[in-house]
Amino acid sequence: MNGSTLNPAASLSRPMTDPFGRTITYLRVSVTDRCDLRCFYCMSEDMTFLPKADLLTLEELDRLCSAFIAKGVRKLRLTGGEPLVRRNVMSLVRSLSRHLETGALKELTLTTNGSQLARFAGELRDCGVRRVNVSMDTLDPAKFRAITRWGDLEKVMAGIEAARAAGLAVKINAVALKNLNEDEIPALMEWAHGKGMALTLIEVMPMGDIGEGRIDQYVPLSMVRARLAKQYTLTDVDDDTGGPARYVRVAETGGKLGFITPMTHNFCESCNRVRITCTGTLHTCLGHEDASDLRKPLRTSADDDLLSAAIDRAIGLKPKGHDFIIDRRHNRPSVSRHMSVTGG
Ligand code: SAM
Ligand code: SF4
Repeated sequence: MNGSTLNPAASLSRPMTDPFGRTITYLRVSVTDRCDLRCFYCMSEDMTFLPKADLLTLEELDRLCSAFIAKGVRKLRLTGGEPLVRRNVMSLVRSLSRHLETGALKELTLTTNGSQLARFAGELRDCGVRRVNVSMDTLDPAKFRAITRWGDLEKVMAGIEAARAAGLAVKINAVALKNLNEDEIPALMEWAHGKGMALTLIEVMPMGDIGEGRIDQYVPLSMVRARLAKQYTLTDVDDDTGGPARYVRVAETGGKLGFITPMTHNFCESCNRVRITCTGTLHTCLGHEDASDLRKPLRTSADDDLLSAAIDRAIGLKPKGHDFIIDRRHNRPSVSRHMSVTGG
């Protein structure tokens, strides 16, 4: 695959800055809305996926990502749905790795459910990927099957080991789920830290209709943290990645524990990111319905002027922040699109 090569240096003088002075340097790309699992908080069991014809081709995704890199994006994360189930996805990863070689891109990474990681770990490392996030909410195979509706925990474990063996740093992401994995969080943390992996906990966000309400799933991480603090010594760690996670160091394990708390504390002031979907829609805020179509400008003209102007227009409309609410009155999605559309 041979994507377009905009000159990244040309745009350095004009970084993408939104109306609130936040510079956009991080792009998350959902390369497919499909997935081989159906985590109950993410998708309904009978999810309808987009017709394949609506998806951008891998070449178009490359061109879109390259346009963002030319406009100052320094970190790119592939996500989904499950990024590793998109056919031929490694040709996109390989092609994007040219931006690592030129130094235009500082990091190319992905978020995966790990089920296909054993197959791809070595190639990812060859393509310059150095870190991956693996989502795994439990160490219990039966619970894992219940959460994902049919997933095989053993496959994910094998994927994690393959990634580590290939020299990739692995961070584990776990959604905190009321009455499901709440009690298991210390064990999950000890397991991850025992292998030198950081663990990040995530609050359930009210995104997409999943066929049931959210009250039964939601547990505030402030509560989880308070419980952990009775058992462990947690010390705040300064983290300047501009991301939504707040980290602590756990004295007893020596490991890092992150908290992503969109519900109890929103992290919008330092937001440096935007998201694109596999159909070329740009979302500038995870918690808003805002959407700008980039597929049309991408397809209308072979050079990137229209595309670049459409990106600038959208960034100019990035909202100040979001406000998710889950309570009895609001037990419905705040945002109608599913997390698998934007990839979190
Ligand atoms: N399939 C990949 C995976 O699971 O890592 C990538 C896409 S998935 C949508 C990205 C992350 O979003 C996962 O860590 C998942 O647990 C999380 N997620 C999905 N739905 C969520 C929700 N409603 N609230 C909070 N996190 C959610
Ligand atoms: Fe698939 Fe990831 Fe959503 Fe689970 S969280 S259903 S693995 S996209």
